[in-house]
Formats: sequence, structure tokens, C-alpha cells
Amino acid sequence: MALLQGAQSLLPPGAGERMAVGELDPPAIRAVDEMHRLCISRRASDMHLEPTPSGGRLRARIDGALSELGSVPATLFGQIVSRIKLLAGMDIADKRQPQDGHYHIDHDRGVFDARVSSMPTVLGEKLVVRLLDMRSNLPKLSELGLPHSLYARYREMVHAPFGLIVVCGPTGSGKTTTLYASLAERGGAREHLCSVEDPVEARIDDVVQVQVNARAGLTFALALRSFLRQDPDVIMVGEMRDKETAGVAMSAALSGQLVMTSLHSSDAPRTVERLLELGIPRHTIAAGLTGIIAQRLLRRLCEACKISRLATRDERAALNLGPAPIFDAGGCVDCAFSGYRGRVAVFEGLRVGDEMRARIGAEGSSANLRALALEDGFSPMAAHAAQRVGAGETSIDEVHRVLGS
Ligand SMILES: [Zn+2]
Repeated sequence: MALLQGAQSLLPPGAGERMAVGELDPPAIRAVDEMHRLCISRRASDMHLEPTPSGGRLRARIDGALSELGSVPATLFGQIVSRIKLLAGMDIADKRQPQDGHYHIDHDRGVFDARVSSMPTVLGEKLVVRLLDMRSNLPKLSELGLPHSLYARYREMVHAPFGLIVVCGPTGSGKTTTLYASLAERGGAREHLCSVEDPVEARIDDVVQVQVNARAGLTFALALRSFLRQDPDVIMVGEMRDKETAGVAMSAALSGQLVMTSLHSSDAPRTVERLLELGIPRHTIAAGLTGIIAQRLLRRLCEACKISRLATRDERAALNLGPAPIFDAGGCVDCAFSGYRGRVAVFEGLRVGDEMRARIGAEGSSANLRALALEDGFSPMAAHAAQRVGAGETSIDEVHRVLGS
């Protein structure tokens, strides 16, 4: 019977079978503690506990990729699920509705906020637990790894008195870290900084943070409207998901506040299309939008085991690489044999100047906006990724995995 690592001591034979309904087996409690310890020590961002035909398995997202950490016997799986649901304040009797909840984990590395969601599947309940390090050292704007020219432009946008800044990318691309660093850049006692988030991922000094609570009726739009009556200078809206939020955020940006938000869109020029889809009129976007940043996270090669080689002629041409060697992933104890340890961000960004405003207002397509941005010195994300490969920070395989070929 395998349960995670060092499982034997956790699981006496027959454990779980003796339990009465509703009672929690001590091995289940210990197994959950062990899962927390294992996931946090591996720096996992999410813990996935899912039913399988033979019981269950534990997987963790580490540096953006899922890896399997162990299996759970059928006799204990339900108990482990109940233990986590109980910790998270969820209804353990209800196994047929998706639920969510949260709890705290005390660990040597600090206090973690665990955000749980459950999903009833054909095999049983699947839980995903997002692990948020509430005391993690947030990087400053200068430490995000923005390309030099973009950093200077972006910093100007962040220090502008009003307007809308959009950070875009898929889930898990580091958008919130960029938004936090941008807010902190404006930090200090002289400004009223506030944020509406779902979830609040870390606490930031001098920022009034509000957690959205849909069940209690506290939506993004409602919190944003309330903040606007409280004389804010800068407002961060964790994500613009709906038309109402987008509308309120945009009118705040036009009426003297700096608004920062994130959006699911694939690249910087296409963000205008997404804003149109959210129901914001074209002329309003043209007037209010100040800048867009798009980003992804690439896994950083493990320094202890990365393997040097010469780039092929095709690779050199495609990535505009110099003659220096590049590196592939190896595998060693330091990186749990994944070849990677930690991550680096790649960015592209554009500032919306007068000409761009005119082009957006005049129904310019994404391709059209891209062409204008390129004339204005816009450097696509792929170029930044190629720089990272050239510097030995990541591999070509990883660039293909995240950005496509
Ligand atoms: Zn390694």
C-alpha cells in the first residue's frame, strides 16, 4: 500500500476499514499533514487530490508543471477528502455539489493560505488546494525581470496619475505578482492604494485589500464602486471578468484614478479586442487605456545539472542566437530530477500613445495595432524568451512548451 513518501509508518494495515461513518481516522489526519509538508517543501503552488479506479492520487503543480507525488489507497481516500473539507469549513456530507473553502497551514516556511475547491466527478470528489504563501517576499518592479526598455516605459505608466493598465496572460502566468509590484511601486503613506481581489494572494503594506465574496454579495463591481467613494489614488482590480466591472474600472480610469487590472488575453495587441468583447465602447478604450503588459512564466533551468550544447543552425536563425552554447534540462536531486528549479518571466508590452489611441478609435485590427506597436519599438515576448535561452536561463524545449513553436 503506497501513500506518498515514507508511507508505511502512516498507514497501519487495515487503517480506514475500521472507522464508523463520520469519524475521522487518525492516519487520514496524518496523511493530510504529510501532504501539506510534502507539497510545501517542494514549493508547489497547487495540490491536486483526485479519485482513481484504485483509490486516489496526489499530484502537485511545481514551477507551473504537474507532477505525481504519490497514491492513496481506496480505504483512506474518502477520509482524506473529508479531513480537508472539514479544515476548509465545507459541508462534508454534501458530495454532489462543487464547493469551496479555505484554511491556514502553519509551516516552518511561514503561514500558508489553502484555498480549496471540490468537484464531484464520476469516480468521486476531486479536490484542488491552492497554496498561497502569505508572507512570501514579493519582488519589486525592478526585480520582475522586465526587459530594460520595457521597464522604463512601464514605470512611467505606473507613475501616471490616471488611466488603465492591463496585465494579460493565462492563469498562472504571474500577472498578480506584476500587479502587486506595480502597486508597491506607488506605495507610501501619501497615496490611498486599494485592491479588490479573488483571492487575496498576499498581503501588501499600505494597500487596503478587499477579498471578493460572491456568496455575501460582495462582487468586484460592488467593491470597486464603494472604493470610488473613498477617494482612492490607485485601484487594483484583480481581474476584469465581467461587463459591469470593466465598465466601472474604465470610468474610474477616465475620471482621475489609476486603475490596474488583469485580463485573460493571449498577447498585448489582442487585449483591445478582449476589452471590446467585455462591452467597453471603442472610444472609451482609446481614451482610457494607457498601457498593456503580457507575460508568461518559463521554468528556470537547474544550475546544478543543466547540460550545455551548441545550438543548431535552425535554432540560431529562429531565435537570433549568438555563437555561445545553450542549455538543455538535465535532472538531479536538487531539482527532484525535473531539470528545472524556479521560474523566470518573459514579457511584452506597449504604451498607448496618441497615435495608438487614434488607431484604436479608428477600428484598427489587432494586426494593425501590432504593426504600429512594432514601429514604436514593441518587442514581442518570443524575443524576450530567446534572450532567456541565450543567457542560459531556460531551454528551447521550455519555450516551446509555454509559447508554442
Ligand atoms: Zn538539477
